[in-house]
Amino acid sequence: QKWVYTFGDGKAEGEAGMKNLLGGKGANLAEMSNLGLPVPPGFTITTQVCTWYYDNGKSFPAELDGQVKDALAGMAKLTGKTFGDPANPLLVSVRSGARASMPGMMDTVLNLGLNDVTVEAVAKASGDARFAYDSYRRFITMYSNVVLDIDHGHFEEALEDYKERKGLHLDTDLSADDWKVLVGKYKEIVKKELGSDFPQDPQQQLWGAVGAVFSSWMNARAIKYRELNSIPASWGTAVNVQSMVFGNMGETSATGVAFTRNPSTGENALYGEFLINAQGEDVVAGIRTPQDITEAAKLAAKSDKPSMEKAMPEAYAELCRIYGILEKHYRDMQDMEFTIQEGKLWMLQTRSGKRTAKAALKIAVDLAREGLITENEAVGRVEPGALDQLLHPTIDTKAERRVLTAGLPASPGAAAGEIVFTSEAAEAGKKAGKKVILVRVETSPEDIHGMHAAEGILTTRGGMTSHAAVVARGMGKPCVSGAGQIRVDYAKGTMTVGPTTLKAGDFVTIDGSNGQVLLGEVKMQQPELSGDFRTLMGWADKVRRLKIRANAETPRDAKAAREFGAEGIGLCRTEHMFFDAGRILAVREMILAEDEKGRRAALAKLLPMQRQDFVELFTIMQGLPVTIRLLDPPLHEFLPHTDEEIAEVAAAMGTTADKLKRRATELHEFNPMLGFRGVRLAVAYPEIAEMQARAIFEAAVIAAKETGHPVIPEVMVPLVMGAPELDLVKSRIDAMAEAVKKESGTEFTYQVGTMIELPRAALRAEEIAGSAEFFSFGTNDLTQTTLGISRDDAGSFLGSYTARGLLESDPFVTIDQDGVGELVRIAVERGRKTRPNIKLGICGEHGGDPASIGFCESVGLDYVSCSPFRVPIARLAAAQAAL
Ligand code: PEP
Ligand code: MG
Repeated sequence: QKWVYTFGDGKAEGEAGMKNLLGGKGANLAEMSNLGLPVPPGFTITTQVCTWYYDNGKSFPAELDGQVKDALAGMAKLTGKTFGDPANPLLVSVRSGARASMPGMMDTVLNLGLNDVTVEAVAKASGDARFAYDSYRRFITMYSNVVLDIDHGHFEEALEDYKERKGLHLDTDLSADDWKVLVGKYKEIVKKELGSDFPQDPQQQLWGAVGAVFSSWMNARAIKYRELNSIPASWGTAVNVQSMVFGNMGETSATGVAFTRNPSTGENALYGEFLINAQGEDVVAGIRTPQDITEAAKLAAKSDKPSMEKAMPEAYAELCRIYGILEKHYRDMQDMEFTIQEGKLWMLQTRSGKRTAKAALKIAVDLAREGLITENEAVGRVEPGALDQLLHPTIDTKAERRVLTAGLPASPGAAAGEIVFTSEAAEAGKKAGKKVILVRVETSPEDIHGMHAAEGILTTRGGMTSHAAVVARGMGKPCVSGAGQIRVDYAKGTMTVGPTTLKAGDFVTIDGSNGQVLLGEVKMQQPELSGDFRTLMGWADKVRRLKIRANAETPRDAKAAREFGAEGIGLCRTEHMFFDAGRILAVREMILAEDEKGRRAALAKLLPMQRQDFVELFTIMQGLPVTIRLLDPPLHEFLPHTDEEIAEVAAAMGTTADKLKRRATELHEFNPMLGFRGVRLAVAYPEIAEMQARAIFEAAVIAAKETGHPVIPEVMVPLVMGAPELDLVKSRIDAMAEAVKKESGTEFTYQVGTMIELPRAALRAEEIAGSAEFFSFGTNDLTQTTLGISRDDAGSFLGSYTARGLLESDPFVTIDQDGVGELVRIAVERGRKTRPNIKLGICGEHGGDPASIGFCESVGLDYVSCSPFRVPIARLAAAQAAL
């Protein structure tokens, strides 16, 4: 079996399409090589070796050794250097590369092949002993950390000690002799920690590094990252071994990271950072603050360090040439890593760049306008869930900004919260219901959970490609990075800027769009949805088949829904109107009434209020369909709970607290979700359903007159289990419609339909469709009743199911296609048997979940209904489902 694929010198055994086998990095190195771009030669050990490694007690397949030897021989031919040769050594990098990029999660070793002998050869060949020993100490540090599991801190301490004693500040101040001394110290550290010498045999070094990279696939950080990003462990990682090029060979050498377009804003301009006389890890680690690539970016940032454009014009021109080729070839924004060795530019990586939602949107629209991709491809390029980021608040333009300091605008949106200094505190704060801003000198992969819990992230060190910046953008969280004026004192739990000291728990606001850090909790405003957003949505609307409605009952929600492009209301939960302060008393009177007469008296008070609610909704929706659901929750939910509340209500109603309590006890249920709710209320107390029906029809008449748009209300009956209940309630609704028509002297049309939210209803759909003109799948209850999992109690155990892979995802978020989905399919098929043109929709939370929307498309529903803020997401997801 072929376990190793080579690349370099204008050809390769792999190509971009082989990501599953070669990982993203390996496949793209091969592709760049095939394109004739300058890629240091090397080879990729496939992801299948990773799988083999774990299946066989962390060992390697027998043929691998020979294949690696052959590949190294090939590299020797291309580079004129031989791995392990004491006189003319080839040095290599060893890097991980999974199918999906997992930035910073797994291990890398650079400068491998150096030892006490080869370091001298490198010094001689390069004529630069400083460079040789700088590389050697880097190698010892990285190898010790990654392969030998010796804490980084030991080496850093030795380095800091040394610098202090010598009065040196920057790493670049150290001479060859300084590094030589330090290399000696580093080796002593290894001997002390490991009990044996630092390995000198390059072959041993190589296999140690390869094993370490495979092992890092299962480290805690990588596992957490995969969990958060739904990457299966079975994919494995590839290992890339590549001949080293050196960015640390003096002032004509450099290393950098660049995006073909701005990953934060999407602006079509090369964007990135580089460091002169440094190796790759220095940029990402945020140890030195890097320099801008373009002169424009340098000027905009008012940086005092020269741009690459000015400092290295030839290499800059080459980078521009290459990025043009790459973007046209891949037809997408690229994220590239490069190294300049003595003026010559080498490409070390390219991949589709991670970007903010704002950038994703702009880039997709721009690429389509530039003719690189089609409009439909543009629609497919933006992840629907990411639109959430665009709906993020920003700081109110009218709000006062008390600027404490500023850093880099690393990830857009604004956030306010209490300061916390550790990820643990961030998580604890979130659990306690607080909004927190995570403040760190810099973040590392260990902070992922804290970053998740925080509203926003603020760091005092590191650039736009630092860990904090990259991860925050991916999460869609506001981030300000590199706010260098802030001094953080972790021990005291304070941060200081000049005379101002803030402590944990104090409020700050960060503005990820301009890098400002503001004192206090500043007022936010909602984003405006125009420009590229509107354009892409327009393209999406052209291809989508599913209609999008919103779940809304208040005028505010209904207006928001329309602004976001909802084409109707798919669920108006009337009980929400019952809780309104002005009417809860009448609702309670109705519940407490001794008999039907008393109930009707209370309902008469509610009628005008409900009618007015519906008039407003119909008016806002201007003739678009509105589905109104009859009262659903159990009555006891409306009764007061605490003694004070009970006393207060009793006084207001002229009854006694005892009587109120007795009624509450009567209404108490062990399983209210399976209790006296939904259509069961309408069966027992038809007068409630009648009042609601009257309010709906009278409102339809009024609103049609006022707006000039015909209103066709859809009356929806919840929680039916079969046709008889629906038939009974429907006859009452129909009678009420006739009465209202007669009283008002106005004709109108309306529909009566039902929710399908019990398994039995799905199974009896054929019969139910006899009287239901539409079905709306209530997948919240249908999930609850199909899986037998209480929607209100699932939190305590569902996590252990998803963590163990017993459930792929939370079934209350993404529809369980095999179970709940099967019932939906059955209901669709049986419902259509009776009524071929029956209108079908979904109004459970799943209606706003992109994966579930894909399912709705596949079973041919007519619409999905979701919360107003998810309407844009649903529009885009529906379009992608139709593509
Ligand atoms: C449902 O059950 O899916 C539904 C939309 O109704 P509710 O969430 O109000 O029970
Ligand atoms: Mg329900």
